[in-house]
Amino acid sequence: MTVAPTLPGAVTVRVPAKVNLELRVGPRRPDGYHALATVYQAVSLHDEVSVARWDDWEVVAAGPYAERIPLDGDNLAVRAARLVADRWQVDERVSIRIDKDIPVAGGMAGGSADAAATLLACDHLWGLGLDRDELAELAASLGSDVPFSLAGGNAMGSGRGEQLAPVLARGTFHWVFAISDTGLSTPQVYAECDRLRERDGVDVPEPHVSAELMAALRSGEPAALGAALHNDLEPAAFSLRPQLRELRDAGVEFGALGGVVSGSGPTVAFLTESHEASLDLSVSLAASDLCRDLRRAKGPVHGAQVVPAPRD
Ligand code: ATP
Repeated sequence: MTVAPTLPGAVTVRVPAKVNLELRVGPRRPDGYHALATVYQAVSLHDEVSVARWDDWEVVAAGPYAERIPLDGDNLAVRAARLVADRWQVDERVSIRIDKDIPVAGGMAGGSADAAATLLACDHLWGLGLDRDELAELAASLGSDVPFSLAGGNAMGSGRGEQLAPVLARGTFHWVFAISDTGLSTPQVYAECDRLRERDGVDVPEPHVSAELMAALRSGEPAALGAALHNDLEPAAFSLRPQLRELRDAGVEFGALGGVVSGSGPTVAFLTESHEASLDLSVSLAASDLCRDLRRAKGPVHGAQVVPAPRD
């Protein structure tokens, strides 16, 4: 997929997007974050991040969503590179090239993916030999979803989502992602969730992943997983963007086994029975004109991985 030219000596890392199969949002904590219980699955939409020595900090981007990310110190990839340099006292700077194929502000952890990829790329570029725990600790300090972008596969997340535990799962699942024109801001969606809960006088329990979802993953049965998909942020995403409810309902009517807003949205994830069923659903959704863009993907896939350098 490489679009931006890669500098000599660059280390390239391929990193997946995620979907939350289940997202339970608990009470707001004193630090402002919400306690979460979630199950992540890494899916085959990937960014590629290349890191090379350079005389200043630089980030360039290419690909369908490139124009929607910051190209300065606010980019999560730059923050990740600077964090590694500061922590291990590396007196070097890097140029970072992002081939962006993960939707931006779509609830698929695109920025977190780039941060995770950059951590791994810098570790390799500078020969630091960081172990999994060191990388995971750096990742958690950059954002709640960053540790999962490194790990990939299926995993349960607690705390703010950054504390990962393995999940017993079998099978490969076929997804259709309906992508919206404009993103939703994660803090805004959480604020709307709080507002709706307060308005409705909801007593918010500590969050737990359901036994139904865990059983569905163990069985590898797409129909069981489709029925178990759940996201506590969905009412807030629907409240801010009412057409997402229409989109979710349409996908299910067109034959999806389940449909759910991914993370804080606005991407809607549809689970299908098979590869063929995902093609059929894409055709129906494209004809409905309810979303801007449709992407098919399968999951689970690996987390961030170094791409072997091409031989001369
Ligand atoms: P999550 O699912 O983790 O809540 P998201 O997928 O909804 O995240 P991102 O694509 O990570 O959202 O983008 C969130 C914000 O982060 C955007 O406003 C974007 O401008 C900013 N951002 C900073 N760096 C990046 C990056 N490398 N890629 C994408 N977005 C970035």
